[in-house]
Amino acid sequence: MSLHGTYDAQNIFAQIIRGEAPCYKLYEDEDVLAFLDVFPQSYGHCLVVPKRAAARNILEIDADNLAKLMAVVQRLTRVLVDELEPAGVQVAQFNGAPAGQTVFHLHMHIVPRYAGETLGVHASVKADPAALAQLQARLLQRMAS
Ligand code: AMP
Repeated sequence: MSLHGTYDAQNIFAQIIRGEAPCYKLYEDEDVLAFLDVFPQSYGHCLVVPKRAAARNILEIDADNLAKLMAVVQRLTRVLVDELEPAGVQVAQFNGAPAGQTVFHLHMHIVPRYAGETLGVHASVKADPAALAQLQARLLQRMAS
């Protein structure tokens, strides 16, 4: 899989959107879904995906769905910063395997950065489910407040 190709409706994020695979959901509306990355590169690493666009990458999404996606990215970034108080936050997105993309449904990464901490290896170490559930509860509570 690389920059050009056909959208695979069986990719893991499409399965999550359809409710066929689980996720630690943080936010959902008609157009956008946000959930915790289960192989986080830092504490609070989240993903935001478009639900209605069968887009593998930023080249393939229409501007309207992209705008809706980014509005949620900004909202969730604010929640993460308020709740986790990182020293910085990365908002990132990869297009094509050579750029680091491993799941071929467009997604935005929100990665809090903490002073003195290096990033974990991309998509490699699965987080403890109890810790993910606890973090999910914490962020949901912050979003509701
Ligand atoms: P990318 O390499 O930019 O395509 O990012 C894909 C991201 O999805 C990686 O950060 C993975 O850790 C993450 N990921 C893979 N499978 C899942 C899953 N089932 N639930 C949540 N995050 C996942």
